[in-house]
Amino acid sequence: MTSDRIAILGGGMLGVCTALELARHGRRVTLIEGAAHVLEGASRWNEGKIHLGFLYAADPTLSTAMRLIPGGLAFAALVSRLLERSLDPFVTEDDIFLVHRDSVVDAASFEVYAKRTAGLVRDALSQSGASVYLTDVSRIAVHPLSPSELADTTCSDDVVAGYRLPERSISTIAVADLMRAALVDEPRIEVRTGTWVTAVQRRDDGRLDVITDAAGRDDLSQRYDVVVNALWEGRPAVDATLGIVPPAPWSHRFRAAVFARSHETALRSAVLCTGPFGDIKRYADGRLYLSWYDSGLLAQGHEIEPPRSTAVLTAARRAVVLEGTLTSLSRFFPLVQGLKTQARQLDVEGGWVYAVGQGSLADVSSTLHRRDKFNMTIDRGYISVDTAKYSLAPWLAARVADIVLGA
Ligand SMILES: Cc1cc2nc3c(=O)[nH]c(=O)nc-3n(C[C@H](O)[C@H](O)[C@H](O)COP(=O)(O)OP(=O)(O)OC[C@H]3O[C@@H](n4cnc5c(N)ncnc54)[C@H](O)[C@@H]3O)c2cc1C
Repeated sequence: MTSDRIAILGGGMLGVCTALELARHGRRVTLIEGAAHVLEGASRWNEGKIHLGFLYAADPTLSTAMRLIPGGLAFAALVSRLLERSLDPFVTEDDIFLVHRDSVVDAASFEVYAKRTAGLVRDALSQSGASVYLTDVSRIAVHPLSPSELADTTCSDDVVAGYRLPERSISTIAVADLMRAALVDEPRIEVRTGTWVTAVQRRDDGRLDVITDAAGRDDLSQRYDVVVNALWEGRPAVDATLGIVPPAPWSHRFRAAVFARSHETALRSAVLCTGPFGDIKRYADGRLYLSWYDSGLLAQGHEIEPPRSTAVLTAARRAVVLEGTLTSLSRFFPLVQGLKTQARQLDVEGGWVYAVGQGSLADVSSTLHRRDKFNMTIDRGYISVDTAKYSLAPWLAARVADIVLGA
């Protein structure tokens, strides 16, 4: 019904895309966010890899790749439509996958995996008729680096092979800013920030109340026909108030990384794989993302709530992440050291990663190497969505909108 009252919980990429999708179809939506602004969490502070599956070589079943590819291929078209503009100014070039000596997947196996994944992308393209990812991938292929190309890319003997793959990333800061502007321009979306959701309760008539720390101040939390839970790290706890338990085992990890700006650097995008290593992303707008997994992993937990109090980014912690990340990456990419003097901006920020899976990325049997278990729970107007990946958010949002509009 067009008069349905719709609440979306969580103003990250999933919540904002869902709100915009529904508003563009004429629906009024209330978007409830606990932080002072929307898009201030993981969806602002991440690497923005628009996954085609190449990072998940430790899942030889290809199940993770198969589940990531549709959302990855759809990302650019969906987001460009919502923002009514091209994303080209914020995208990286093709990624270079560098296989580390301690990788949980050896170089030969990685190459086989990458070729099979490229085949899956080609199959998906032929089935969907789509072609434009963030670049034309209709002739997607795996390009092994020659010894001289490898030596030009990294100075480290710990890298045993390299491959150029047309997987790209997007500057999530730039997208977040554009998404915020799109929300402001959308009169059908009421944005309620600074409002913490503690529970959802079902009334006798089947409608849903959203219980927040603002209860009593207004009636905005009352009597919704549809509630979409897009709370990411806060999602399982709110689901639990309706008796919905996440698939076990799950984990919450707070990951920080370095977000920089430098137009001068000659650094190129590259990722060390497969395991707890690091990566560099250089976007077309001069922004950079630098991460070293162990330096940036600041907190983790396995309870229904993430261990928020242990993940506070103090100035001292930021300094440690910055130093650890730059020092570790410069062992592979010496130009990283130059950023300390060259970069116009060098910030440490981070966000939560909720995942169905646990363990260490250094262990090939860790369930974190598989990301195919994300799901959507639908129960009489309550729709709870595990985004799983930034790259999937617009695609999942379009699916949630279809469900709501078709109801
Ligand atoms: C360092 C890092 C690198 C990453 N790299 C990639 C990558 O390259 N590619 C990729 O695809 N993914 C990546 N991810 C994962 C990606 O960031 C997330 O999957 C994605 O941003 C989740 O989007 P979301 O909208 O579900 O969550 P969020 O953006 O976190 O939005 C959820 C919102 O809900 C709010 N909230 C939570 N609980 C409550 C509550 N109880 N009440 C009110 N509000 C609440 C939060 O404040 C937040 O604004 C990375 C994550 C990190 C941290």
